[in-house]
Parts: sequence; structure tokens; C-alpha cells
Amino acid sequence: MINDEESFFLAIDRNSLAEQAIFDALADIDDEEYYTLFEVEVEHSCGQARVQVYPERSGTLYRCLNCGMAGIIGG
Ligand SMILES: [Zn+2]
Repeated sequence: MINDEESFFLAIDRNSLAEQAIFDALADIDDEEYYTLFEVEVEHSCGQARVQVYPERSGTLYRCLNCGMAGIIGG
């Protein structure tokens, strides 16, 4: 049986990988795509999903359209 600490860190890992995938998808966006809402297809912690992203200079806001998780990457 998986203990609390293992499941905690596995969840953090999954989330970090998903955030990295979102970040990578934004690696080559153009300047004019900052401060606009658009969608990318990435491997999220819930599986393959479309994710809305709103890149700002200070970080990237995102919301997964599959599981509904939302947050900020970077900052
Ligand atoms: Zn998701």
C-alpha cells in the first residue's frame, strides 16, 4: 500500500511534469501571443488534455479543460 508521503510526492511529480509540458508548449510562442488566451494539447496529470493558457511575462496562467485544474506556472 502506498503511504501518504509517497502519494504526496508522486502527485507533485505528476504536476511538475504537466507544468513542464505546458511550459515546453509555450517555448516558441511569438511576442504577440502574450496576454492572449489560447489552447495547447499536452500530457496533463489527468492524461492527454487540452489546456487553456494565458502567458504573461511574469508567469503562465493555465486551466485544464479535462480535469479543471487551474494554476500559475513560474512567476
Ligand atoms: Zn487535467
